[in-house]
Amino acid sequence: MMNRRQFVRATALAGAALWVRAPRAHAATWDLIIKGGRVIDPSAGLDAVRDVAIRAGRIAAVEASLAGDAAETIDAGGKLVAPGLIDIHTHAGRSKEGPPLLVRDGVTGWVDAGSGGADNIDAIADVARGAPQLGRILVNIARTGVTQGGELHDLGQANVALAQGAIARHRDVVVGVKARLSENVAGANDLEALRRAQEAAAPFGLPVMIHIGQSVSPLRAILPLLKRGDIVTHMYAPAPNGILDDHGRLFPDVTLARRRGVLFDFGNGVADHFDWATVERATQQGFWPDTVSTDWNVMSKTTGVVDLPNVMSKFIQFGMPLDRIVACATVNAARVFPSFDDRGTLNVGAPADVAILELRDGSFEFLDNYKGTRTGRLRLFPNATVLAGKLMRSV
Ligand SMILES: [Zn+2]
Repeated sequence: MMNRRQFVRATALAGAALWVRAPRAHAATWDLIIKGGRVIDPSAGLDAVRDVAIRAGRIAAVEASLAGDAAETIDAGGKLVAPGLIDIHTHAGRSKEGPPLLVRDGVTGWVDAGSGGADNIDAIADVARGAPQLGRILVNIARTGVTQGGELHDLGQANVALAQGAIARHRDVVVGVKARLSENVAGANDLEALRRAQEAAAPFGLPVMIHIGQSVSPLRAILPLLKRGDIVTHMYAPAPNGILDDHGRLFPDVTLARRRGVLFDFGNGVADHFDWATVERATQQGFWPDTVSTDWNVMSKTTGVVDLPNVMSKFIQFGMPLDRIVACATVNAARVFPSFDDRGTLNVGAPADVAILELRDGSFEFLDNYKGTRTGRLRLFPNATVLAGKLMRSV
């Protein structure tokens, strides 16, 4: 919509042409209506059939039945309508092909979690800036970023000054620091690498995300190095040095860390990052994820990840209510990083990012990272994505 000043200017510029086009006054009320879907918006405690109207790239109304005509209408009957999904652990920044693929999955916001370090983050920052949706980056404390052999075996790679330089160069897109702490990445350097990650992040007030599981140091030594707002990804990584003791009981240190504001993220991944037994034992003890993420890359369709809706579906069979699962990929994810403050919600006035999903009934096989399969009766599929008010079809 034009504001008054723009209208006056348009009138002055268009002159007589404007009044000939007077019927424009009867232009559609809404740019887009998503009609009759089951709207799940945990930011508003909403789970009900609603119409969602969009105007000028923003959510304009969410009501049981909306009057007024729309330039475009999506019939969402039988479908699920959620805020655009936010995936806080991806590797979408590795190539410019990544982010548009994620749009098809309903993902309207992503964080690249440490693909790049000080030496190679410039290209990743460019991908984030050029992405169709909101893309942000965690800079790896290792100057090389993620490497096959493990980027922290040589502690010299964890250079605080270089990491800070990378953050300073890319303040517009860098939202935190990443450190991978498993033995095959960091050897015995896990604690010192984490200390350096904190040192790099501190002057900027940024969170640190760590990747746990199979580390040399136990979690009781790692967790005290985390501050409120830091993120533990691969939260259900199996032993050694996961969240459960030898008897399958949750370590008290883990509960304590959560209580003081450390966040726990799923981070599906492909190898070593979760098995069904750990998810089962932890969730039986009430230890659910704050956020559900994929550890996505452009090959994920061919792995047990598939897409974020598939990863979210893995929690249905453990008895997690659907609205809480949706919260993990919308409002909870948005709260982790201030860049996403106005996202993960269908509040009137919010940017019109919407994920239209199908919840299909059937028999679906889900994969952990150890070739373990579980069959579930329900699975979420991406159907269509609205990004900044524009409809992008998934299929
Ligand atoms: Zn990752």
